[in-house]
Amino acid sequence: MIVFELICRDRHRFEGWFASAEDFDRQKRRGLLSCPVCNGSSIEKLLTAKIGRTEAEVPAEQPAAAPTLPEKLRDMIDAILVNTEDVGREFPKEARRIHRKEAPERSIRGVATGEETRDLLEEGVAVMPLPIPPREDWH
Ligand SMILES: [Zn+2]
Repeated sequence: MIVFELICRDRHRFEGWFASAEDFDRQKRRGLLSCPVCNGSSIEKLLTAKIGRTEAEVPAEQPAAAPTLPEKLRDMIDAILVNTEDVGREFPKEARRIHRKEAPERSIRGVATGEETRDLLEEGVAVMPLPIPPREDWH
């Protein structure tokens, strides 16, 4: 909420609460604003008086805990695991097939040795080594 200090044509000052500056403009355009003293509808906005409580009282000394890197990494890995097909040790072969359009275009994950990964990259196959420990039970 924003508190605007308002003034009418007869220079009566009063405060109005609005969701936003746009909200004030909208209400003014529709003639919804009126002076509480003289009921005049010619209202102008003075300076923004202050920001309402809802925003001001967010505890400043407790910033939202920034996710630590391991957490972010885990989220990223989770997203990859959910969105990729596990082809296991077929990975280098399957990655080449997709690259050559011999297999349906999709995201895959699997196991490749450092040498295989290097070869794929040299062939222009977009692969990304991931810091996921190989686990046989994924197959
Ligand atoms: Zn007035």
